[in-house]
Amino acid sequence: MYINSLNQYLKSRFGRKVYKLALSSGCSCPNRDGTLGISGCIFCDGAGAFAEKGPISLQLERGKRRIASKVGENPGYIPYFQSFTNTYAPAEKLRPMFLEAMEPDDVVALSIATRPDCLPGDIMELLRQLSRIKPVWVELGLQTIHSQTAELINRGYPLSVYDEAVEKLHDAGCEVITHQILGLPGEDKAMMADTSRYIGKIGSEGIKLHLLHVIRGTRLEGMWREGKVSEMDLYDYIDALMGCIRVLPRDVVIHRLTGDGDKKTLLAPLWSGDKKRVLNEINRVFRENDLTQGSLL
Ligand code: SF4
Repeated sequence: MYINSLNQYLKSRFGRKVYKLALSSGCSCPNRDGTLGISGCIFCDGAGAFAEKGPISLQLERGKRRIASKVGENPGYIPYFQSFTNTYAPAEKLRPMFLEAMEPDDVVALSIATRPDCLPGDIMELLRQLSRIKPVWVELGLQTIHSQTAELINRGYPLSVYDEAVEKLHDAGCEVITHQILGLPGEDKAMMADTSRYIGKIGSEGIKLHLLHVIRGTRLEGMWREGKVSEMDLYDYIDALMGCIRVLPRDVVIHRLTGDGDKKTLLAPLWSGDKKRVLNEINRVFRENDLTQGSLL
């Protein structure tokens, strides 16, 4: 069995155990603030993932303290601007935040989640400068390459915008991590594998594979209640994951094999709330099938 997992990759690249710390930049999202739309992607509840708040150095310190009991000797950290669209502000506003996050010696890289349609010239110049200081990872929420699904989920940009974003990020010296959701309405496993194949082919350095979660308060909840969303069961999901991994080049780093939904607002699939069991089962079935990343390329 072989998969290029994030843990192994971080250890071999940075020579130590590295932890990600979720920080907040305070940016909103054009798909929610009225610029592109107000309702956002259909699976998004607008709450944002958990992140620290306040001045960046304090956020970093609090984040480190929160995980202190798990951390061994000489750890490295990656500040991760996770929620919403973290390049959706003028470069001059973002520059001091990103620089502050990168400054400590134990910070080995910076990670910024955003939309591919939010990378204008001033932001690209900023990212170019930052990537000369330390590695900069830019995470793009692609979710699917299929245009009918992209429309259905209200993603708000065509595939060509993602293609251009990957090219200009690489040109600026950044590394790209692409998010893909498995189980989107209307997609079968072959379509999911097509998206992964595309992400690998375009040269994305990493991928995050998520299961579609139905979260309370989203537009997806309404579709789900009307019976328009079929839920994947755990073994269907694992099968879809294997289909995707087999068409990913061996050097693409797999950052995630499942999502991190908030159990309090998760409506479906409920099995995904037991993350420990899900990961154990994923690993067991992978081993049983001797899964090898890139074996179908
Ligand atoms: S781009 Fe991200 S923050 Fe914006 S609506 Fe979609 S999922 Fe939510």
